[in-house]
Amino acid sequence: MTLTNWAGNYAYRAPVVQHPRSVEELSQIVASARRVRALGTRHCFNDLADGPGTLVALDGLASSVQIDSHARTVTVSAGTRYGALAQELHAAGWGLGNLASLPHISVAGAVATATHGSGDRSQNLAAAVAGLVLMSSDGSLRTLVRGDDDFAGSVVALGALGIAVQVMLDIEPTYDVAQEVHENLPWETALANLDDVTSSAGSVSLFTDWREPSIQQVWRKTRVSESYQPREEFFGSTPAAEQRHPLPGIDPVHTTAQLASPGPWHERLPHFRLDFTPSNGAELQTEYLVPRAQAVEALQAVRGLADKIAPLLQVSEVRTIAGDDLWLSTASGGDRVGIHFTWQPRQNEVTTLLPVLEAALRPFDARPHWGKLFADEDRSLARLYPRWDDFRALVARTDPTGVFANDFLERHGLRDA
Ligand SMILES: Cc1cc2nc3c(=O)[nH]c(=O)nc-3n(C[C@H](O)[C@H](O)[C@H](O)COP(=O)(O)OP(=O)(O)OC[C@H]3O[C@@H](n4cnc5c(N)ncnc54)[C@H](O)[C@@H]3O)c2cc1C
Repeated sequence: MTLTNWAGNYAYRAPVVQHPRSVEELSQIVASARRVRALGTRHCFNDLADGPGTLVALDGLASSVQIDSHARTVTVSAGTRYGALAQELHAAGWGLGNLASLPHISVAGAVATATHGSGDRSQNLAAAVAGLVLMSSDGSLRTLVRGDDDFAGSVVALGALGIAVQVMLDIEPTYDVAQEVHENLPWETALANLDDVTSSAGSVSLFTDWREPSIQQVWRKTRVSESYQPREEFFGSTPAAEQRHPLPGIDPVHTTAQLASPGPWHERLPHFRLDFTPSNGAELQTEYLVPRAQAVEALQAVRGLADKIAPLLQVSEVRTIAGDDLWLSTASGGDRVGIHFTWQPRQNEVTTLLPVLEAALRPFDARPHWGKLFADEDRSLARLYPRWDDFRALVARTDPTGVFANDFLERHGLRDA
């Protein structure tokens, strides 16, 4: 049977998928492969994970979660899903600072693509990486820790530098979060007060179809302290009376608890619950990350395309991400605003629209999310990343024969063909 990604829009071309049961077995597979790529939980929407040779999934390796309470880190096997890790951490009295919208994705796959949640002060998930153990093309292991010369280039690495076997993440004492949803925030008010809107809670997401004069839903997640009070009126929007799904009219049974009821961080920060299939079935995704300072102009530019976008859209989400120093991070060098599109599964029409969207966002140096659909028709991603050439040099040095190479990396100029 053909193996596809989570969305079913991409069938992996790699002829073999291996599931090693030990690091030694993984080492033998890698050392004897002409070409090999790591596969995580298959949540990318493009061919980034694929390869012309072997794919290795780490789901057969024994799961391991080691907490160092003194150093405030946890070391996990790289294929661990965030949801499973979160449950173990919380049970032991610890938490992560941030999570993405769903907990089903692997730590290594999320980190490799600069996956993020939302929050003016929340960096993407890769910024919490304190160390990595990577398997090189000869099957040997190398350890990198924050501060090492190659570290900032090796965390968001798109699978190009080897196979992550272990990841060390920063942790903090567990905490509670309350989630509130407000409805019908007028666009003009949101744009005039964007900084106040996005800083009003630890994590803020704006859900829109671009066509309506109001943003349909604002999801706000706040760390609960003694002084926490839910907001009634919020910039002209009103609190939702019931639990909501981001897609109007869809049963919210899959979404994490709202209505300001406090709960553990890992049961509020993701939008979707671990024990349910996320989202509304078949979908495609695209996201562009623009500099925070140009967010209002960029959002206006996208609104100008509302009539083209809306017929293909399920919903869009606007989030904020704090800057970091990881070379290929989409928030590298400064704070960003993410403009995300959950499309209907109409791939041909979506891929026809993407160059139009990218042309509108070109003045804002919009960085596409590595794991989602984008066009990059003029192959110009290099101009968006100041450390691009350093990354290429790192790839050439650590994988000179292209064992971890694939079409995606070559097509976008991340390594030579
Ligand atoms: C429903 C849904 C919701 C999503 N929500 C968000 C969101 O809230 N925020 C966001 O930013 N993104 C989001 N995404 C995108 C998603 O987080 C990324 O695509 C992420 O890469 C998925 O991780 P994965 O393990 O499934 O990766 P895969 O698709 O399996 O692989 C992605 C990349 O990671 C590499 N990789 C995987 N494992 C390893 C390893 N062990 N060592 C080295 N490289 C490895 C692969 O080679 C590949 O290059 C969402 C996707 C879906 C389908």
